[in-house]
Amino acid sequence: QPRVFSGVQPTGNLHLGNYLGAIVRFVPLQDQMPTIFSIVDMHAITVWQDPAELTQQTREVTAAYLAAGVDPKKSIIFNQSQVKEHAELAWIFNCIARMGWLKRMTQFKDKAGKNAENASVGLFAYPNLMAADILAYRATHVPVGDDQKQHLELTRDIAQKFNNDFAERIKELGLGVPNPEPSHEAPDELYFPITEPMITGPATRIMSLRDGNKKMSKSDPSDLSRINLTDDQDTIAKKIRKAKTDPEALPSEVDGLEGRAEADNLVGIYAALAGKSKAEVLGEFGGQQFSAFKPALSELAVEKLAPMNNEMRRIMDDPASVDAVLRDGAERAAEIAEPVLHDVRRIVGFLESR
Ligand code: ATP
Ligand code: MG
Repeated sequence: QPRVFSGVQPTGNLHLGNYLGAIVRFVPLQDQMPTIFSIVDMHAITVWQDPAELTQQTREVTAAYLAAGVDPKKSIIFNQSQVKEHAELAWIFNCIARMGWLKRMTQFKDKAGKNAENASVGLFAYPNLMAADILAYRATHVPVGDDQKQHLELTRDIAQKFNNDFAERIKELGLGVPNPEPSHEAPDELYFPITEPMITGPATRIMSLRDGNKKMSKSDPSDLSRINLTDDQDTIAKKIRKAKTDPEALPSEVDGLEGRAEADNLVGIYAALAGKSKAEVLGEFGGQQFSAFKPALSELAVEKLAPMNNEMRRIMDDPASVDAVLRDGAERAAEIAEPVLHDVRRIVGFLESR
């Protein structure tokens, strides 16, 4: 049956890309199917995190979910490390996924940089943990930004290999569900679903304000590269004013944005915030200079982000209530993941005598 899983890392500097590419898209899904939204702290520590800040940022991402309209009565909201099934399933997936699959992951190459020998083993195995996050709930739908596409393909490959490797065993134990797309390569019964990526809408890849060819990122050392959800009005205006652009006026047609990465990005941000298409935005601003467009964009960004910002602050004033949301969520998440791991142990053949 359908189920949504998605997560955000508590690595600080939540930005407009996280908001438009992921968090706001969670809200309408809550009324369509069961939804699970995690703060993935185990992913965060694949690169060094100050412990006290990690705790604080876990609350901050939770506050962002709540402020954006993720409702703890409709959705399960919890931090990953409180449900140990993620780690357990990730180990099994470490033994399913192949080195060659992981070596192709561009996120590892980007984050490890030139000195990959010095990256943590966790950073390399990150996609296996992500597959475990999703499949511990046998989730079918994963709303994420475009940068996660490759990891979701790996999740599908892991599910497929698990289903294939253990096909007979799954059938024998009566744990499979009929394969909706049977073929001569795929077994007719599956244990793990083949997850659907949900990478849709105008804001699946918001780019850095300093470099139109790099995605906006929490971990970019330049704070001017992103609009943080906690930025005040003046900071937002300053960052947009300083955003890199070219000297041309805005085109009147979407085609005219081709080869103009920075212009394309700013028009895309405006469109996503306004709930319009890029064509509509260019209908309004085509022919105008950035000196006219940028103030309009600042005003819109402030108008859309200020209420969210205030609500986040209000929620953060009461950390005990945030922790209570996470505790309740973790209990409900474990209720789903525990029986899945019980099945998986049986499928793999682990002896359980207690
Ligand atoms: P980091 O640099 O630490 O990886 P991040 O900005 O990529 O941080 P994540 O916590 O890794 O943030 O991702 C959370 C969600 O936000 C994911 O669904 C991811 O696809 C989405 N996302 C991240 N950056 C962008 C972006 N620039 N545009 C759209 N979506 C994004
Ligand atoms: Mg990321």
